[in-house]
Amino acid sequence: MSMDAHDKPAENPSRRRFMRDTTLATAAAAAGAAGLGAVMSQTAQAAPMLGGGGWLPVPKAKGPRVVVVGGGTAGLTLAKYLKKENPKLDVLLLEKRSQYQSCFCSNLWYPDVVNMEYLANYSYLDAANTDGYIYYNCTVTGVDRDAKRLYTNMGQVMYDFLAITPGIDYDFTRFGIPADDYETQFAIRQKFPGGWIQPTEQVAVRNKIQGFAGGTFVVTVPTGNYRCLPSPYERACVVAGWMKKTGVKGKVLLIDPNPDIIIKAKGFHEAFDQLYKDIIEYRPSSTIRGVDPWKKIIKTETDDIKFDDATLYPGVQGAYIIQQMGLVKPDSTQREANIDPYHYNIIGDPYVYVSGDSRWMPYSKSGNTAMTEAKYVAKVIASRVKDKEAKIPWESPNTLCYSMVDLQPNKAIYVDAYYDPKTFGFTNVKEDDTRSVANAAAYLAWGKGLYTEMFT
Ligand SMILES: Cc1cc2nc3c(=O)[nH]c(=O)nc-3n(C[C@H](O)[C@H](O)[C@H](O)COP(=O)(O)OP(=O)(O)OC[C@H]3O[C@@H](n4cnc5c(N)ncnc54)[C@H](O)[C@@H]3O)c2cc1C
Repeated sequence: MSMDAHDKPAENPSRRRFMRDTTLATAAAAAGAAGLGAVMSQTAQAAPMLGGGGWLPVPKAKGPRVVVVGGGTAGLTLAKYLKKENPKLDVLLLEKRSQYQSCFCSNLWYPDVVNMEYLANYSYLDAANTDGYIYYNCTVTGVDRDAKRLYTNMGQVMYDFLAITPGIDYDFTRFGIPADDYETQFAIRQKFPGGWIQPTEQVAVRNKIQGFAGGTFVVTVPTGNYRCLPSPYERACVVAGWMKKTGVKGKVLLIDPNPDIIIKAKGFHEAFDQLYKDIIEYRPSSTIRGVDPWKKIIKTETDDIKFDDATLYPGVQGAYIIQQMGLVKPDSTQREANIDPYHYNIIGDPYVYVSGDSRWMPYSKSGNTAMTEAKYVAKVIASRVKDKEAKIPWESPNTLCYSMVDLQPNKAIYVDAYYDPKTFGFTNVKEDDTRSVANAAAYLAWGKGLYTEMFT
């Protein structure tokens, strides 16, 4: 395999390529190359262009370059473990956020079980320095797989292997909202964020919960395979627990399309019945057919529900970049990546891999799953750098998911499971539905353990 392609500094792609794939930075470079610089100010002309001609300003590759797209649970783990598997790999992690803030455990921040330091006091720079890879803060916008070239808003970069771990995006059509009804979708995003993707959503959700003055607070369970199956049920518990603790009068209405709670059902039912009988109203078999975010009305098949405040979780799809790159599995209703389920490469392409919540396999889209899976994918990629046909024995990811159901004192339940290699369904399931203080302590230690694994 040629390892010097990514080192070529000034092989500017054609204008046609720029127009088709570019980002702002490369478009600016293209404009200069096409002689449009005359319209720019003298200062702009004199300034050296970031990335020198549209290339991402990162050091030259010192070995086979593996570019990892997305520094979440999967990407951070993958970057670290690629270096562990083979220190000679030149690993480059590209992440669009400038500061990490954890999705998992964020339900615990809403009622002050943990503070922001617990969720976010971690540095991409420290992780990269400690584990010996390169981190660059940019947004990936496209790929040319024939040329092994990646496009970002800060310039292009060549790769030898590419691992894409971008997580999820929301899918509002699961609320019965037409795909092109941006008015409604954006009103929901802005007024009633779910808090399952972006840090800024989490801040808004916390302000809603802690500022709730009474009435009906709606929490929704999506259809399909959504991120963190127990988390909407946990969300109902933490909102109710917060109301109970602070004496706010009102109810939490949990709207679920499923006929019953789909995971840790016994533990959640006991919490609803024993701790929050007068607060949580659980509505199973209720599929949402529409939302009016202005009048605060949710339409189900049977009725219109008026609410005072809400965190609305519409359902998920593979992250948008997977679609932009044309990597969607044709029969995936959630637009997830078209990967070999055992080796994680895009079907027919041994150089491009997808891991984490954008995978199509029906695993729980959760942090422990993403981390254990990424450790395995690191082994696959490291061995394929040596031999692109390498087939290493499949390892099941491990899903370990805690849920805080009581806040006085903190008590949690959990599920711990592996996956069947043929059906990809749960196997070896251990579930503890008896809420306990010990499980709550284990929950906090588990979260800390994942952050330590990703950042040190
Ligand atoms: C409320 C809540 C509770 C949860 N509870 C649990 C739990 O108890 N247990 C558990 O195991 N899991 C839990 N999770 C789920 C867990 O956080 C996710 O499943 C896990 O983080 C998925 O990892 P990922 O790497 O696939 O995606 P992410 O961690 O979301 O990482 C994706 C990264 O890619 C970046 N990215 C996306 N597109 C681009 C691009 N074009 N260019 C550059 N970067 C890009 C994003 O900015 C992001 O940093 C919970 C999640 C939430 C929201």
